[in-house]
Amino acid sequence: MSPGARRSVRKKAAVSGTGLHTGARTEATFLPAPAGQGIVFCRVDLAGKPQIPARLSEVEAVERRTAIGKGASTIHTVEHLLAAVAAHEIDDLTVELSGPEPPILDGSVQPYFEALEHAGPTETSGEPLVLTVPAPFTVSEGDSSYIVAPAKELRLTVTIEWPHPLIGRQAGSFTVTPQAFARELAPARTFGFTSEVAALQAKGLIKGASSANAIVLDERGLANGGELRWPDEFVRHKAADILGDLVLTGGHGGNIALARALTRAAQRGGAPKMDIGRIMDVLPHRYPFLLVDRIIEVEGQQRIVGIKNVTINEPFFQGHFPGHPIMPGVLIIEAMAQVGGMLLMGFFEGQNVEDKVVYFMSLDNVKFRRPVVPGDQIRFELEMVQFRGKTCKMKGVGFVDGQVVAEADMMASVVDR
Ligand SMILES: [Zn+2]
Repeated sequence: MSPGARRSVRKKAAVSGTGLHTGARTEATFLPAPAGQGIVFCRVDLAGKPQIPARLSEVEAVERRTAIGKGASTIHTVEHLLAAVAAHEIDDLTVELSGPEPPILDGSVQPYFEALEHAGPTETSGEPLVLTVPAPFTVSEGDSSYIVAPAKELRLTVTIEWPHPLIGRQAGSFTVTPQAFARELAPARTFGFTSEVAALQAKGLIKGASSANAIVLDERGLANGGELRWPDEFVRHKAADILGDLVLTGGHGGNIALARALTRAAQRGGAPKMDIGRIMDVLPHRYPFLLVDRIIEVEGQQRIVGIKNVTINEPFFQGHFPGHPIMPGVLIIEAMAQVGGMLLMGFFEGQNVEDKVVYFMSLDNVKFRRPVVPGDQIRFELEMVQFRGKTCKMKGVGFVDGQVVAEADMMASVVDR
């Protein structure tokens, strides 16, 4: 966002009220923080005043809210507070909480935005952490899907769809600057349906919900009378929630998946063991049949880890299948085999690998566990089981987000071209 210095606040400011899910009364206090600290919550009501950084690794529960921390020190429903932090482009901040959940207030981000304005956002020193996305990618999680593309500014284009007469299909596109956020997104309130109240209460959620802190909808319209702040207040609020959850890269189920994917995409800038140039030196495959993007780990001649980023631009998605893109299983195995080829070629280090090519001789125990779709990053881990002469056996497993998508035992040999 802001390419300049890091930002914190000049003085403290507080808001207090009841938490939406816990119903507990909590005061949230914004305090200046040293450059480089990041956004850190502090539970001042607990012994030892545990600190919980606003980071993806701390995300605990994502049902109907974003919670961070563990066990007794969990903090529920951080997304509205964090949306205000993001809107003010603040990098370093301490947030003291006297209870387990920042107050829901009127259900919008506005009270937090105003409190931070009062605290005086100010530039400090050091470089802000800016995630740069090198190329467009997509993420899907449950009913939500996201498309992330490089841009000069932060712009959220959001479409939501709910089968309700006041919502239906709503779309909006919002450039995020402190001024635009204050005008277009901050006042938009969270919303819920009377039909869901009992089920959510049974799960121990929404203990603090009332018609004063959310738009409450019944089958026909607004359950509690009153007026919407905009006809499309719903999509505006969802845009604000996404912004809040994205703070955790440096909500809700889908948004957190997006934040993780963003972090990964930005991390791809890190130094690989073998980049695409080196891979193309070793493998004879070329577009559209080169299916390895990067080798990230090599343990001698025993083990190798390679990455394949799957995007909607893969040529095979045009026909496999129109409107329902799934990576062909045989190509997942082909990608795995190419990573295996990199391991096998390692045996010929120092020799002229251009004269050699890997032939695969057999595949056994091939299993496809899960479909691979655009936005997935496949991590192939291969182990050498046996190597004799010019023939080897390898065991390979492909993972997406830590879950196995495919596995196979492979036998291959190196032949001269
Ligand atoms: Zn929300």
